[in-house]
Amino acid sequence: QFRAFRVHQDEQGFRAALEKVSLSDLPDAEVTIRVHYSGVNYKDGLASIPDGKIVRKYPFIPGIDLAGEVAESRDVRFQPGDMVLCTGYGLGVTHEGGFAEVARVPGDWLVPLPQGLTAQEAMAIGTAGFTAALSVQRLLDNGLTREDGPVLVAGATGGVGSMAVAILGKLGFEVVAVTGKTGVREKLLSFGASDVISREEASSGAKGALGKERWAAIVDPVGGPMTADLLKAVKYGGSVALSGLTAGGNVETTVYPFILRGVNLLGIDSVSCPTPLRLQLWQRLAGEWKPERALNEGINVYSPEQLPQTLETILAGRAVGRQVIVFKD
Ligand code: NAP
Repeated sequence: QFRAFRVHQDEQGFRAALEKVSLSDLPDAEVTIRVHYSGVNYKDGLASIPDGKIVRKYPFIPGIDLAGEVAESRDVRFQPGDMVLCTGYGLGVTHEGGFAEVARVPGDWLVPLPQGLTAQEAMAIGTAGFTAALSVQRLLDNGLTREDGPVLVAGATGGVGSMAVAILGKLGFEVVAVTGKTGVREKLLSFGASDVISREEASSGAKGALGKERWAAIVDPVGGPMTADLLKAVKYGGSVALSGLTAGGNVETTVYPFILRGVNLLGIDSVSCPTPLRLQLWQRLAGEWKPERALNEGINVYSPEQLPQTLETILAGRAVGRQVIVFKD
């Protein structure tokens, strides 16, 4: 038996708790992993509440990220003792996830832990950091250079945002961080931001169909009305990498940023990102893109018992940086 954080929805109602489960509670899959660390993402917050619309079968173990050691494997690519990480695919959504001491996942979902990252660092990066890296990659693929001017990062104290600030800052971009929080300016500057502005300031000048051209590119994990405002301030030919919906799933925009300024709206999906790109981005995250400044300053480590409070914090939009859960040190 081992410990897992499980959610239930039955005649007694909805509940979520750390409890003892056994291997027969896990789905059959090729690789059994002794989980060392997991990370907390917004999606995990949604999985831990009754109407979050993430979990479709109960009881269920959430956790969309895990890193740990292979215990058993029917996949020739992985041997007992190998360190691996897993993010995305069905993990923690359709397939029992990383909030447990043991997980069983298909070999195709696994990434060997890259040299240059500890398991804890990999989970501090997690889906959020991987999504930030994918966003940066797509902006670069669409022609963004340092000479183009400031890059705006929305939701900057959040998981995706803080990692994007750190990666872009490390790559030498001028990064303007948008936050709704007060008292986090120094922290965001230490992650790699050049300036910090409020949500109101980011949305200012967005009354008409187009506003002043301010940003060469935008990393946007926020969505909702803010995305509509930000699109109006992208410089000619610039891009918005849109990954999230913390502020809502509806974006009411017009065609003008697209047809008058050639703005690109880039959709970012970390879940089904193809394996070659996935492996390449993890190599970058372990090397030249490693977001050290956010890893050093922005990581909060918790025990499995503290999962409920970390999930509540992320749902309330109060998290600053990443929250990592230790299952085995
Ligand atoms: P997170 O840590 O909670 O960060 C979200 C941040 O957004 C918050 O910290 C807050 O930052 C800001 N925010 C919250 N409410 C806002 C509002 N009403 N208006 C403007 N900003 C607001 O969450 P995360 O894990 O980074 O995930 C962020 C989003 O990306 C979620 O919707 C998640 O589902 C999505 N996501 C998508 C993918 C993908 O593959 N597409 C992958 C990962 C995450 P400030 O307080 O600093 O403003």
